[in-house]
Amino acid sequence: HTQTIWVLGDQLSPNNAALTAADPASAVVLMIESKARGALRHYHKKKLLLVYSAMRHFANDLRQAGWTVDYHLLTDTPDFESGLKRHLETHHPTSIQLTEPNSFIETTALKKLARKLNTDLTLLPTQQFLCPRADFLAWASPRKRLLMEDHYRRLRKQTCYLMQKNGEPVGGQWNFDHDNRKTFSDWHKAGRPTTPIPALKPDTITREVAALIDTEFADNPGTTENFSLPVDRHHALKWLDNFITHRLPTFGDYEDLMVSTEPVLFHSLISPLINLGLLTPQECAEKAITAYENGHAPLPAVEGFVRQIIGWREYINGIYWLRGPDYAKENALHAHRPLPDWFYHGNVPMSCLNHVLHQVIDTGWNHHIQRLMILGNFCLLAGIRPDQTLRWFTEMYVDANEWVMAANVVGMICHADGGLITTKPYAAGSAYINRMSDYCPSCQFDPKLKTGPQACPFNYLYWNFYDQHADRFNNNPRTSMPVKNWLKRPPKDQQAVRDSATTFLKTWVPVPE
Ligand code: SF4
Repeated sequence: HTQTIWVLGDQLSPNNAALTAADPASAVVLMIESKARGALRHYHKKKLLLVYSAMRHFANDLRQAGWTVDYHLLTDTPDFESGLKRHLETHHPTSIQLTEPNSFIETTALKKLARKLNTDLTLLPTQQFLCPRADFLAWASPRKRLLMEDHYRRLRKQTCYLMQKNGEPVGGQWNFDHDNRKTFSDWHKAGRPTTPIPALKPDTITREVAALIDTEFADNPGTTENFSLPVDRHHALKWLDNFITHRLPTFGDYEDLMVSTEPVLFHSLISPLINLGLLTPQECAEKAITAYENGHAPLPAVEGFVRQIIGWREYINGIYWLRGPDYAKENALHAHRPLPDWFYHGNVPMSCLNHVLHQVIDTGWNHHIQRLMILGNFCLLAGIRPDQTLRWFTEMYVDANEWVMAANVVGMICHADGGLITTKPYAAGSAYINRMSDYCPSCQFDPKLKTGPQACPFNYLYWNFYDQHADRFNNNPRTSMPVKNWLKRPPKDQQAVRDSATTFLKTWVPVPE
């Protein structure tokens, strides 16, 4: 073997560009479980379990397909350097091919490492996204304002997904979200429909990796118990089919719903699998479209799902490469409070936060509305530092990668890019949460009260937020309404909001002296 194909832990894709370009007879595949990479952040145990188990399964699948795999285990591999050195000494490759990493950190670190070890490293463009990086940059760079919708329509046309022959979208419109926002009371009236997700049992490899994580990363958040995600392509495809058959038809209706006893509802839970490479975005979108064409799933559900995959996912990735590593440091609203410790144990009296945090600590996953409108909304309103919010989101979620979380957290949640990718901040008081969930009836706070010790904190934090940023948001047509309403309030009411917010923040989101 003269050629090495290096495969990273989130490149476990049938479309891995370096693998598809090589021949199993003349190449050896290198895979390294770097302890330092696993310890780069305080990752949730289920996230580490997913990645390392999926890597080991991928290596086995490659061996079965006739590849030679040089696999370096976590226990004897302190970092990428030690793994690569050992590989070079044993295999003496003339060249190393690597699909371009999905993050700046890894791209920089691995290039530097190759120079240090005096080895020739060639990067190939990734195929894990529909939209090549260069193509997104060429489209986005000249634009003053970036809108996901513009990018989404462009990709719909390019892929011909849900398009008619005359160039119009199927169903005559691009977006069916107004059909998708069913509330908690709609769900209740419909007889509280649910569908179980498949219960996958961990196999021997996963159990071995779980024991390893429990020893090597004992202090990390979460637990390895009750892990039930797919860890190889075979099971990932079955998982996808199960979603398409059982949950996709109702996915759109209850996309934004939050039910304390039903963490998954009709969501696909495929983001961890696509982001590792076990599923391709094309096959996910195409299977959903086929379900629509066969009359199995309605258009609003399918369009909403396709928008998540070819719209949001690609857009968020594009923004990451467009804005560069400094994007993660932006803080346009000057939010300065540290992320409180209770984000790691979830013991707070606010029932919504309590439920959502306990769920992510247990499972490593929440659906998008829980992330955006409960946790994210709270971080925004409480003025928590975007860099610390970003770190927490990157650590805690099984589907998190640097590229996913940068624009999602800094841009969408914290509005810290000053509105580059969203036209208004995702801020809401208790009315939204009460309508879309069952969290409020069991809460010690009253969603109807606006100020005082019994009032829902989201209510006064919401107005306190607009008080603090009145100048900025008064000039934006999409946010001038709440600001005008705020400015019209009697000074006494305004002061009551500020007082309630100050008292709450001092206790629950303190700034160290
Ligand atoms: Fe959350 Fe407020 Fe409802 Fe309590 S009352 S669950 S804090 S929105």
